[in-house]
Amino acid sequence: MSLSIPVCAACGEATFPRLFLCPSCAGTTWRYEPVERGHVEGSTVNARDGVHVGLVRVALGPLVVARIEGPAQVGDEVALDQDGLVPVARPI
Ligand SMILES: [Zn+2]
Repeated sequence: MSLSIPVCAACGEATFPRLFLCPSCAGTTWRYEPVERGHVEGSTVNARDGVHVGLVRVALGPLVVARIEGPAQVGDEVALDQDGLVPVARPI
């Protein structure tokens, strides 16, 4: 289980999601690196459907907006995965 993070092939800047141009060097070629874990920096519950959504910082740098499955607080380490195109974070 992991989440693929786009990394600029020219300068190594990681973004999420992938951007049209690298914000550091305007490069347009991306490679992907798997990340398995991150730390929750913020979370909320969608009032409409009760889905927990969090901001998860990954070691490569970017913040990932992910659906959080299970109890997770700010500062907790979570495992990252993908459900189709949706990033998913699960408490470890
Ligand atoms: Zn770049």
